[in-house]
Amino acid sequence: MSPTAATKGPPFRRVALIGVGLIGSSLARVLRREGLAREIVGCARSQATRDTCLKLGLVEAMHESPAAAVAGADLVVLCTPLGTYDDIARAMAPGLAPGAIVSDVGSVKEQVIRDVVQHLPDGVHFVPGHPIAGTEHSGPEAGFADLFAERWCILTPPPGTDEAAVEAVAELWRRCGSMVEIMDAHHHDRVLAVTSHLPHLIAYTIVGTASDVENSIQAEVAKFAAGGFRDFTRIAASDPVMWRDVFLNNREAVLEILQRFNEDLTVLQRAIRWGEGDTLEALFRRTREIRRSVVAAHQAGTFDAREPDRASRSRSDPDRPGRPEE
Ligand code: NAP
Repeated sequence: MSPTAATKGPPFRRVALIGVGLIGSSLARVLRREGLAREIVGCARSQATRDTCLKLGLVEAMHESPAAAVAGADLVVLCTPLGTYDDIARAMAPGLAPGAIVSDVGSVKEQVIRDVVQHLPDGVHFVPGHPIAGTEHSGPEAGFADLFAERWCILTPPPGTDEAAVEAVAELWRRCGSMVEIMDAHHHDRVLAVTSHLPHLIAYTIVGTASDVENSIQAEVAKFAAGGFRDFTRIAASDPVMWRDVFLNNREAVLEILQRFNEDLTVLQRAIRWGEGDTLEALFRRTREIRRSVVAAHQAGTFDAREPDRASRSRSDPDRPGRPEE
């Protein structure tokens, strides 16, 4: 998809979004805004989701069957929880047009490639992708067109993937406002285990632990939930099904980083027990520098378009809570 091609008309004839929740509906909105598809169709299991998508005008048509949704599409994007990929790829395969590009937005890549590739007919190109952008909200009403702006999108095409297909998907994400990086799927899963999966696991744990303490203290926790804990509760509100599937599909990388985290935590535990202030301060100074480098790279979190008040605060102060990146 070249800029020249874009001026001649939409680069995609028919885009099929399998799953139109936070990510799928954000993609639909930006595809529409940027005129990137002549027609957008969607697929969802429930009648309620299908009705909402039509009511919001996100798509021209909604289907229950993945095969019906992908018929005639030159781009198909899987935007459902990872645990559905195997079944959906099997179900949609008979409907795929020769030459179609299949992509996805899943948060784990190696397992996704295994689940999907096995079902795809010859002549269909698979370009796995992962936009590093998200919020703790779910469903078609949660999406917004700016979700991907100034965020990274990582593509993990298996070796030998058609280069024109990779470039078409890369250009699509650039037109959504993202910066694109091509990466090996195994490497992606290790990087994301550190930057996203472990932090979510920690947030789920902390909030779970707090909810286990006796009722009187729980009330205090809610009442004084400022700063750090409040941010953890926001991350721990992320979609349970999506995150269940992330951990089940990135098991090895998450367990490896969790092991290292536990070792580091033990060092801190020991430093606190023995009053080793230097150890604590040295770590906290190092982590403050890391935060500064994240801010300098403009990845500190910007705004959630549905909450304008927070938007203006977050833009002016990058230390304010923004959107959790996934
Ligand atoms: P979501 O808001 O819960 O949306 C998922 C959508 O998929 C829903 O509309 C759901 O509608 C539909 N769906 C679920 N199972 C289906 C099935 N078997 N067949 C057809 N449709 C189905 O989830 P999301 O946050 O957009 O996440 C989707 C994907 O994006 C996940 O793979 C996740 O790893 C990835 N991702 C998420 C984030 C994030 O921060 N949320 C960021 C980057 C990538 P019905 O229930 O009506 O079927």
